Amino acid sequence: MYFVEVILPLALAKTFTYSVSEAEYHYIQKGMRLAVLFGKSKIYTALAIDLHQNKPTLYEAKEIHQILDEKPIVTENQIKHWQWIASYYMCAIGDVYRGALPSALLLENETLITQKVDVFVDESELTDDEFLIYQALQQQSSLKVQDIIKILNKKSVFPVIQKLIDKNILVLQEEMQETYKPKLVRYIRLHSKYESAEGLNELLAILKNAAKQKEIVLTYFQLSASEKKKPISVKKLVEVSNVTSAVVKTLVDKEIFEEYLLQEDRVNFSGETNKHQLELSEAQQKAFDEIQISFQEKEVCLLHGVTSSGKTEIYIKLIEDYLKTGKQVLYLLPEIALTTQLVTRLQAHFGNKVAVFHSKYNNNERVEVWNQVLQNSEKAQIVIGARSALFLPFSNLGFIIVDEEHEQTFKQVDPAPRYHARDASIVLASFFQAKVLLGSATPSLESYYNATTAKYGLVEIKARYGNVKMPEIVLVDLKDKYFRKRMTGHFSDVLVDEITTALSLGEQVILFQNRRGYSPLLECMTCGHVPQCQQCDVSLTYHKHKNQLRCHYCGYSIAKPTNCHSCSSIDLLTKGFGTEQIQQELVQLFPEAKIGRMDQDTTRGKFGFEKIIDSFKNREIDIMVGTQMLAKGLDFDNVSLVGIMNADNMLYHPDFRAFERSFQTMTQVAGRSGRSEKQGKVIIQTYNPDHNTIQQVTNNDYAGMYKEQLYDRQIYKYPPYFRIIKLTLKHRDFEKLKEGSLWLYQVLSQHLGVPVLGPEEPAINRIRNEYIRTIMIKNPQNVSIMGTKKTIQKILNSFDNVVQYRTIKVALNVDFY
Ligand code: ADP
Ligand code: ZN
Ligand code: ZN
Repeated sequence: MYFVEVILPLALAKTFTYSVSEAEYHYIQKGMRLAVLFGKSKIYTALAIDLHQNKPTLYEAKEIHQILDEKPIVTENQIKHWQWIASYYMCAIGDVYRGALPSALLLENETLITQKVDVFVDESELTDDEFLIYQALQQQSSLKVQDIIKILNKKSVFPVIQKLIDKNILVLQEEMQETYKPKLVRYIRLHSKYESAEGLNELLAILKNAAKQKEIVLTYFQLSASEKKKPISVKKLVEVSNVTSAVVKTLVDKEIFEEYLLQEDRVNFSGETNKHQLELSEAQQKAFDEIQISFQEKEVCLLHGVTSSGKTEIYIKLIEDYLKTGKQVLYLLPEIALTTQLVTRLQAHFGNKVAVFHSKYNNNERVEVWNQVLQNSEKAQIVIGARSALFLPFSNLGFIIVDEEHEQTFKQVDPAPRYHARDASIVLASFFQAKVLLGSATPSLESYYNATTAKYGLVEIKARYGNVKMPEIVLVDLKDKYFRKRMTGHFSDVLVDEITTALSLGEQVILFQNRRGYSPLLECMTCGHVPQCQQCDVSLTYHKHKNQLRCHYCGYSIAKPTNCHSCSSIDLLTKGFGTEQIQQELVQLFPEAKIGRMDQDTTRGKFGFEKIIDSFKNREIDIMVGTQMLAKGLDFDNVSLVGIMNADNMLYHPDFRAFERSFQTMTQVAGRSGRSEKQGKVIIQTYNPDHNTIQQVTNNDYAGMYKEQLYDRQIYKYPPYFRIIKLTLKHRDFEKLKEGSLWLYQVLSQHLGVPVLGPEEPAINRIRNEYIRTIMIKNPQNVSIMGTKKTIQKILNSFDNVVQYRTIKVALNVDFY
C-alpha cells in the first residue's frame, strides 16, 4: 500500500492522504502538484508534501486523479515556511498554500478559461486534445474545467490545459491583459560642451550662418529663463519657435542639443545626465560598512535613515555584493504602486536580472517569475514585489530588503493567512542563513525596539543625501485662523501664500488630506440626520463629481438626496472635507495651475497610479492633492512645498498606534518636499499645534516619539511588550453574535492567564449586513505565546461544537495591526 500526503487549497488545517500505485509512489516527489477529487465531485490541485505507507485510520484513502508535474514546483523550504506561517498566524496550511501559489497553478473546476486575445495560433502545432479545446473556444468565449472534461470525454484534462497556457494560447479569465508603457516625453537640452561662457560663444560662432538654427537656440535660452527649472520639451520648443521638428533634429544631429526621455533616465533638470555608477556619499558609505559589520553577527539589521538620505543607493550597493556571490535577492515593497520608480532605478544597475512579482500582474507573468525563481535563473536574481513575493520558490536566497518596513500594508488583513511580511521574511531568511535589511525613515516601534535591545543591528543616517536640509516645518493654528477670518475654504492665508510662491518659481506642490471624496458627510441642519449605508454601520461619503453618496466599505451608493430622508427638510449641509473638495477649492484659488488628485478613486485600474505619478514627474501637474498614497517613498525632485490640510483627524483615530502612525505619515509626507538642492517647506494646519506628536514631527524628533509611545505601550499593555491576538466574530443575527461572543470571552478569560478584553462592539459594528464583535488577547513577553495559542485553539474547537454558535464566523489575527 502506497500513500501520498497532500495539502488542499482550502481553509483546512489538516493534510489528506490519497492512495497511489507503486509506480506513482516512486515517481511523485514532494512539491509536485496532483489533481485529486475532494468532496463529492470537485477536483482540486493538491500539493504532495510527503510519501508514506501508513493507511489512514479515519477514512478510506481515495486514489489520486493524476500527477500534474514532472518536477517539484514547490521547495521543501517553502513548505516549511508555510507550516511556520500556519502555526504562528493560527490559520490553515491550506489557506497559506492557496495564498502562496499563483492561481494559474491552482486550476480547479470553477476556473474560467478563455483564449488569449491577439495571439496567432498555429493549429497544425496542436495535439488532438488541444485542438478540441481551441475549437470549442471559437464557439464560446469561456470554458470551465468541467466543460473541458466533457469535450475531451476524459478526466485528465489539467495537463492539456496547462500545456495550452504554457503555449500562450489560453488564459484564466480573471486576468487583465493590459501592460503598461510609461509615457515618454521627449525633452531637449543644450549639449554640456556649450554650457560654459566660452562654449556659448563658440556655439554662436558655429551658427553664424544658420539663421533658423540660431533662432531656435535663442528661443531655447528664452524658454529656459522664463520656465525656470522646468525641462523643455521638443513639442514646446517647436511650438514657440515656430519651426519644424526637422530643424530641431538637425541641431540634435549636430550635437548642439541633446534629446532625452524623461521616464527612462532620471535626469535632473539642471542638465547633468544621470551617472549609473553612483558614488556613495561619506554618510552612505559609513552606513554601508556598518550594515556589513552588523551582518557578521546578526541576521537582521534596521537601517533608520531620514527621508531622502539615499537608502535606495545603499540597497543597490548591497545587492551588488550578493549578486557577485550568485545569491538571490528579494526586495519587498509595501505598495506595488511604488515599483515602477524602483524598477527603473534597479534596471539601470542590474539590467534584466530584475523581475517583478505581484498580484496585479497577470497569471502568465506570475507563473513565469515563479518558474524563473524555481530554476534559480539569472532573469529573476533580484525579485521586487509586494508581500506575496515572499512565497516564491527560492533555493539560493541570500538577502532580503524590506523597504518602508513600518508600513502597515505589510500585514495582510483579509483573508487568512493574516501574516506580516516583514516578520515572515525574517523567518524565511533564517532557513537560508540569509540576511535581512529593514529600511525606514520612521521605523515601527516594534522594529526599533528590537534594534535597541540588540536583537537586530541598528544603523542610522541622520542627514539627507547631498546635505540637502530637512524641510522646514511651519505650524498653522486653525482655531486662530478661523477666528481671525484668515481662511479661504480650507486654506489658511499662510498656505495660500506659500503655494503662490512655489508656483511662481516653477516648483511643484503636494497637498495631503487623508480622506477621499468631496466631504465625508451630508448632515441635515434641521434634525441632524446623516445618511447611513444600508448594510454597514457608517455614514455615506459625498462625492461631488458624481453627485453621489457612497459607502467606502461596501461600495453602496445613492444619488445625493435633495431632502432629508428623516424630516424632509431641504437644509442639508456637507460637513468635513476630502480630497475632491480640496481639488475644487484649488481650482478657484489657483485657476492657472494644473491640479491633479491621487486617491483610490483616481488610481483605479491596473496602472492608474503609475499614470498619475508619471504626469506629476513630467510636470504636467503643478499641485497634487492626495491621500496617504502620497506618503509612500515617492521621489520627486521638484517639490518644494508640502501642505498637510488637517493633522487632527489622523491623531484621533481610535487605535493604539494612532500617534505612531500620525508621526510616520506626517514625517513621510513632509519628506516628499525639497529632495534635491533647495530646502523644502511643509505647512501643517492643525487645531492642536501643541500636541506632542505634532511637535515631534516639527522637530524631526523620532527619538522623542519613540520614547513617549513606548512608555504608553508598556502602561497600556501593547506591543512590543505584549503580543496582541485579535478575534473578530461576525454574524447576521445580532443577538446570537452577542451571546456567542460573550460565551467565548468568558471561556477565554477563565482559561488564559493573560489579559482578555472585550467583547467589543467596534466603532463600525456592521459591514455588509454582518454584525461584528471583537475580543483582544494580550500576551506578555514572559508567557509562552505558543501555549496561549494552543489554549485558544482548543477553546475555539469547543466553540465550534456548540450548535447555536457554529455559524458564527471567527477570524484570528495574530500580531494585529
Ligand atoms: P530615501 O530612500 O532614503 O528617501 P533615495 O534613495 O530616494 O532616498 O535618495 C534620495 C535622492 O538622492 C534620490 O533622488 C537619489 O537619486 C539621490 N541620491 C542618493 N544617493 C545618491 C548618490 N550616492 N549619488 C547621487 N545621487 C544620490
Ligand atoms: Zn432632517
Ligand atoms: Zn456599506
